[in-house]
Amino acid sequence: MKQTFFDAHAHLDFAEFDHDRDALFIEMNARGIDKVLIPGVSPERWSRQLEIANQYQCYFGLGIHPWFIPSSIDEAITKLEQQINHNLINPLFVAIGECGLDKLRPNFPAQVELCLKQVLLAKKYHLPVILHAVKCHTELIALLTKSKLTHGGVIHGFYGSVEVAKHYQLLGFKLGIGGLLLNPMAKKLHHVVSELPLETFVIETDSPSMTPLNSPEKRNSPLILPSIIEKIAFLRKKSTVPILEQVNKNTLQLYEL
Ligand SMILES: [Zn+2]
Repeated sequence: MKQTFFDAHAHLDFAEFDHDRDALFIEMNARGIDKVLIPGVSPERWSRQLEIANQYQCYFGLGIHPWFIPSSIDEAITKLEQQINHNLINPLFVAIGECGLDKLRPNFPAQVELCLKQVLLAKKYHLPVILHAVKCHTELIALLTKSKLTHGGVIHGFYGSVEVAKHYQLLGFKLGIGGLLLNPMAKKLHHVVSELPLETFVIETDSPSMTPLNSPEKRNSPLILPSIIEKIAFLRKKSTVPILEQVNKNTLQLYEL
């Protein structure tokens, strides 16, 4: 059976892919990378994102990233809800996000408000939520505990301790594992990947960002997914086939596909 890969988080709508997107999708297909989720980042970018997602048959999320705080949060949330309603019948629309918190970026109180409002939309529409979480696990765990989501979601590009990882797992969240795993210095992440049940993980790249260290490419792409699976298999002392199978199952289950 041919192995297939699902990139649970890739911004393939970004301009970095405009010059060779067709060629990249052909290459991905040849390597069995046949499913991708493109997260949303801001109202200004949704129409381009949806155009690309529909054209290449990629799953997508709708949301506002904490790096793109709108001047009026209420207005942006209204627009988001309109967009959600507009897309409810589209089978490619599977999640809210990406949204989240990022302590390395300004305006944390506004980030919290924006994130909470999107988490509540995920709850209202019974959808999983894609979360960006940088140096904010305490605050995010508090927000999620309070929100009592029914469909969980994913902590994308997870970086944290085993203890934090277990907390998210208890809240019904998957952890998105990407190129950082290939960094020999990322010991904390290696530990998480070898300790937690395999049911906890989905694989992703965050392309075009998060290019692995030592990569000859400047731009990240879903083509690195097989190396992530190899690394997970190495860390868990298993062969790649059952690892890939379970990780795929996790992603399909999360997005109810
Ligand atoms: Zn992202």
